Amino acid sequence: MDNREEARTEDSEHLFRGYVVWLILNGRTEDALGLLAKHYGVSIPRLKVGLPSRHKTKASGCYAPKDCTIYLRNSDTLMDPFVILHEFYHHMHISIDKKHRGTEKYADRFANGFLRAYRSLTSTVSKNPAKAA
Ligand SMILES: [Zn+2]
Repeated sequence: MDNREEARTEDSEHLFRGYVVWLILNGRTEDALGLLAKHYGVSIPRLKVGLPSRHKTKASGCYAPKDCTIYLRNSDTLMDPFVILHEFYHHMHISIDKKHRGTEKYADRFANGFLRAYRSLTSTVSKNPAKAA
């Protein structure tokens, strides 16, 4: 791959990330998850509003590997790209490596990478992401 080709790949990755964030902000979270799953070659996680009762955390979302489901605190969280992408990271990580959901640090870094791409394309997204676990 020569340098020019590499730049183009990076460019489309950047646009992809920005587009995914845009979809989530516009309530098209299912579409965003479909694109993410295809992009990373994993299954599409299920999405449910309402945390499982055993979760007494203040988290905005959580991922349950047993049923491949991202649980969200409420319907507002459905449109929070940071939470969705953070939880998708756990889904993706566990799909690839059956034992580990990945660290919180990397899940945050993954989500922030998308938000950065979106910001650099638009510079309108909130800089106060919710806390996810
Ligand atoms: Zn987490």
